[in-house]
Amino acid sequence: MIKKLVKAMGLRFCALVFPDKCLGCGKYIKKNTDNPLSVCFCHGCLGQTLPVFDHPFCPACGRGFESGPDHLCEACLKTPMVMERVRAAFIYKDLIQKALGLFKYQSKLSLARPLERHLFQAFATHFDMNRFHLVLPIPLHISKARKRGFNQSYLLVRNFSRLYKDACGRPAPWRIDIRCLARVRATVSQTGLDHTARKKNLARAFACPEPGLIKGKNILLVDDVFTTGSTCNAAAQTLVDAGAASVSVLVLARA
Ligand SMILES: [Zn+2]
Ligand SMILES: [Zn+2]
Repeated sequence: MIKKLVKAMGLRFCALVFPDKCLGCGKYIKKNTDNPLSVCFCHGCLGQTLPVFDHPFCPACGRGFESGPDHLCEACLKTPMVMERVRAAFIYKDLIQKALGLFKYQSKLSLARPLERHLFQAFATHFDMNRFHLVLPIPLHISKARKRGFNQSYLLVRNFSRLYKDACGRPAPWRIDIRCLARVRATVSQTGLDHTARKKNLARAFACPEPGLIKGKNILLVDDVFTTGSTCNAAAQTLVDAGAASVSVLVLARA
């Protein structure tokens, strides 16, 4: 009863705070579907099927295939990744690409909650949530965090523990601990850099200030977008070097 009341109040609160106009086309929105994104996008825009991340894909890096069964991709066969597996909620295109752009670069923070719900759904779908000890959002360098005012990856996992408790009826077995991984070097934008340049750009970008916290732990790294994977890879390498037992990656959207 109380739960329902709180939920109803929450929805009314959302209606007050969140924009009534569709972030996609500017039309007024009717919020009455089960899709969490319906607080930000109209029926018309949501009518396009969301590009859900689904089989077939490479069981390691999550690269999607047109058809056939899941199989290791050429790149993973040639050089196994540091990351155990990479999974996503969506493919990075269409409405999701637009939503992420609005969220990250235009500070449409009303998108954080609906996107986070989709991300949590993907976490439950693609992983055994109970095997993780730590959930770590990819950190931003302090200079970038100051400029943007928020860390988009942190906003995407902020309520994960509560979502887990609501879904499973018990406290989450993992912790979200932002002390575990730090971005110690400001890196230039990765856009337009080739593979070698990206790797060089990211070398020693991350550090584990308190290795005791991560030794022997199974870690889920979370980021908003996975394109070439060089950011997640550099972070995973740093964690493994510092003694993590395993590092998997969950992103909102994978290219
Ligand atoms: Zn629209
Ligand atoms: Zn692969």
